[in-house]
Amino acid sequence: MRFSLNDFHRRRGTKFRLYAQSPVLEGFGEPETVWVSSPAGSLRPGPADGRMYAIQPLEKKPYGDETMPPFTGFCHPAARASRAGHFDHIGPDDPAFASVHMFGAVRRVLDVWETYLGGPVHWHFNITHPRLEMIAHVPWDNAHFGWGFMECGEGADDQGVERPFALNFDIIAHEAGHGMIFSIVGMPTPETLTASYRGFHESASDCVAMISALHFDRFVDHVLRVTDGNLYVENEMNRIGELSRTRQIRKASNALKLSDVIDVDTPANDVTGKQVHKLGQPHTGAIFDIMVEFYLDRLVANRVVEPDLIAALRAAGRREQFEKADQTLFTDAFARQPEGFRAALCEARDMLGLRLAETWRRLTPHDFVFSREVEMMLKVDAEFTGTRHRQMILECFEWRGISFEEHESSEH
Ligand SMILES: [Zn+2]
Repeated sequence: MRFSLNDFHRRRGTKFRLYAQSPVLEGFGEPETVWVSSPAGSLRPGPADGRMYAIQPLEKKPYGDETMPPFTGFCHPAARASRAGHFDHIGPDDPAFASVHMFGAVRRVLDVWETYLGGPVHWHFNITHPRLEMIAHVPWDNAHFGWGFMECGEGADDQGVERPFALNFDIIAHEAGHGMIFSIVGMPTPETLTASYRGFHESASDCVAMISALHFDRFVDHVLRVTDGNLYVENEMNRIGELSRTRQIRKASNALKLSDVIDVDTPANDVTGKQVHKLGQPHTGAIFDIMVEFYLDRLVANRVVEPDLIAALRAAGRREQFEKADQTLFTDAFARQPEGFRAALCEARDMLGLRLAETWRRLTPHDFVFSREVEMMLKVDAEFTGTRHRQMILECFEWRGISFEEHESSEH
């Protein structure tokens, strides 16, 4: 059974046109129409609702240490819904499109994670700012999420093409991920902030973006197409990253271990932004490996491939002889029934999303260490499905050098 947000919100929700990935990528040139959860007709000009609003300032510098929302200067007229209450009539040629796209993309990311969390994400900044302000254009070659706002500049994307970041779903979803992680896990104090928490934040935001992107059918098809459905072997050989030009998959299927990145005991403020991003990569890799394992599990459970075939691939992996292993049975199975592979990947995505959301909800941001997340994920997973995946999850983290130490369980 494949869960689809579009089917879930069809008819009652609101339509937007979103780019699932950079439009310079093959197959992603046109934005696709998606349904978000906002009831049709409920969105005000902006778009805007009770939790967020998009504005288009005539002129504005990026927010910094001295400035805060709300923006009070002059703005272009707000985008308006169609008579039926949708925003899909605003296409890429419309000057308001970037703003509408940004709102729709953030709403979509929230829909994904609120489904997993079973309730709304309450912004961590809502004690002072009840709504998130979204600005699709500031003169800057970056994008950021801060106290009560999210704003995007423009610059070269991962394909080297200059374009507004507000049209890049990965970047918007990653920034929205920062906001959600602050809201779900929380804000440490300067004294309790660790380098690991900073790395975790980057990684979790990447995971949010990857799982959110996997809610676009076109992106699911893309991932399966570049791997011929054989996510396991391509991931083990660290080839997905080379094959796929999409940012999230390149970052997620990495081979980095904790020993390859800066020492997690480095004081949080001594770690540069670049080091922080790298520090999160082993964690992102482990999470991606877990999703691939769930995918194999579903392929077998749904009788799309034989268990013997998976066992043979694993055995070849242990001998490091994938190149010699016969993979034609696998690719033949994919050619025969791609829909079974699509369903398995979507189920794996949701198995992971549900576990991550519940794990993050139970974490504290103070004195964060990666092993505490591992411990919590094992607990959450056990509540979902018993001990069935325990060993696999442990191994995925251990291979990355993220080990789980039993004695820490009583401390927090
Ligand atoms: Zn980030």
